Amino acid sequence: MAKILPCRAIIFDFDGTLADSMPFLESIGVEVMMKYYGIPREEATKRYRTTTGLPYEHQIRSNFPNHEQNEAAIAEFEKLKIDRIYEQRLFPDTVLALTTLREMGIDLFVSSSTFQPTIREYFSRRSLLPFFRDIMGYHPGFEKGADHFRYVADKYQIPMEDVIFVGDSLKDYERSKGFCRFIGVTGVFQERDFRAAHHKGFVVSQLSEVPPLVELKRPQMELVHSDN
Ligand SMILES: [Mg+2]
Repeated sequence: MAKILPCRAIIFDFDGTLADSMPFLESIGVEVMMKYYGIPREEATKRYRTTTGLPYEHQIRSNFPNHEQNEAAIAEFEKLKIDRIYEQRLFPDTVLALTTLREMGIDLFVSSSTFQPTIREYFSRRSLLPFFRDIMGYHPGFEKGADHFRYVADKYQIPMEDVIFVGDSLKDYERSKGFCRFIGVTGVFQERDFRAAHHKGFVVSQLSEVPPLVELKRPQMELVHSDN
């Protein structure tokens, strides 16, 4: 039986981890690739999936380097996304999982490749901002992964060794390497995919499986004090 993970904070990816938005994002992401680059659906789906977890503009630029249609394709995707992103629901057990983790005293963060104002607005509309210590979205130079992790460590004085990142993409796992522990969530990727990427830690199929895997790491001084 694997060991419970002590932590002070959990950082959650958004799309496909907290919100059931991947079917919607993949559908518009694939349509845009088919329309602007004239590739068949199967190839567009493959190109979308192998880069999922990156901001869409990076998905486009890494799939079609220096292509003249890139700016138009990125603009159309972002327009289609903003039109319907607020309709995308959270997973059925997201609020319960967040509530349980907050009751355990664990600080919660969001780290997303969606633009900062959009991701904040999403939680604001659902009155869920109080769950989170901070919500980090994307702007150029401030990406999910290293930028967001360093920001949490610096601003909130939480060492990365006390942090767990929860995400649904292989890119999320790659980003956690060298920074913090990782819990994979299945959906777009299955457990075998995370294992093939050499993730040895936990993989869950839904967020309600996360609270039983973690415990609050108490500061050392508090431990000494409680022994008296
Ligand atoms: Mg995701």
